[in-house]
Amino acid sequence: MCFMMIGCKYIANANPKRFAKIVHPSAVGFVLVGTVLFFSVEMFYMLPRIYDTDGLFFKIAWLMALFIVYNLLGNMLACHRNSSAVTSLPKDRQIPCPEEKHLWHFCDHCQMLVPPRSWHCKVCECCILRRDHHCIFTATCVGHTNYRYFFWFTVYMHIGSLLSLATHVNLLIIDEQIRRQYVVLHFSRFFLFLKPMSCELIALNISFIINIYACILSLIMLGYQIPALYLNTTFYTPKDYRYNQGLLGNFMAFMGKRGLWTFISPSIRSPLPHDGTKWQTKQAPTTF
Ligand SMILES: [Zn+2]
Ligand SMILES: [Zn+2]
Repeated sequence: MCFMMIGCKYIANANPKRFAKIVHPSAVGFVLVGTVLFFSVEMFYMLPRIYDTDGLFFKIAWLMALFIVYNLLGNMLACHRNSSAVTSLPKDRQIPCPEEKHLWHFCDHCQMLVPPRSWHCKVCECCILRRDHHCIFTATCVGHTNYRYFFWFTVYMHIGSLLSLATHVNLLIIDEQIRRQYVVLHFSRFFLFLKPMSCELIALNISFIINIYACILSLIMLGYQIPALYLNTTFYTPKDYRYNQGLLGNFMAFMGKRGLWTFISPSIRSPLPHDGTKWQTKQAPTTF
């Protein structure tokens, strides 16, 4: 994960346009192909071998899987479509009021004053309101407006990959014949790929390996995001506690007025308490 982040940051700084052209489609494709693969292998291959296809558990599993995929892809799309760019503000809010002017700072790239907590992104080529980080999986910057979608996208990626992993483990326990076909468990069987192997088993093995990776990746992403949500900080300013308004205040500032209910669907309306230009601090910001 660290190597991936350092590598991405290096390429993004060296050549932002090429970064957007190559890394964005690859990362988005990884999520889309991975989701289709997990879903197909899990629902059409693994689940019928575990549960009675006419039983209640099978139907509940189908409903849960559809709910998770809807929220995973829905939040991913909503994160991409809801821009947190300073330029997405109404024209009159892109200029500070006289009483706010001392809190805004000048961006050399945009050649304009930008609100507190806004920082420039070389890939997006604009300043982002309460910029958290540039996300390759949603092909956009995560900031004030779209943070909620990014957070739930990460949560659903983790829930989905955890449940998928649990299904793999369940199948491993109950079906010895399938267990013998898991390449990861019988490393010497890696060479099975060189021998004829059914498409189903190849998909099962690939999905198992990607599943482990997705589970760890989403856990690390959550490991960064939960403290940021809890303390009202950002990925790049994890020790700036000036904006901490308490758990409920921070939650509302990030998720909007409906708070936790945004967990249910990206389509739930949850207006944010402000437009991303007015940040209350516990103490007056230091002036340089
Ligand atoms: Zn800028
Ligand atoms: Zn960006």
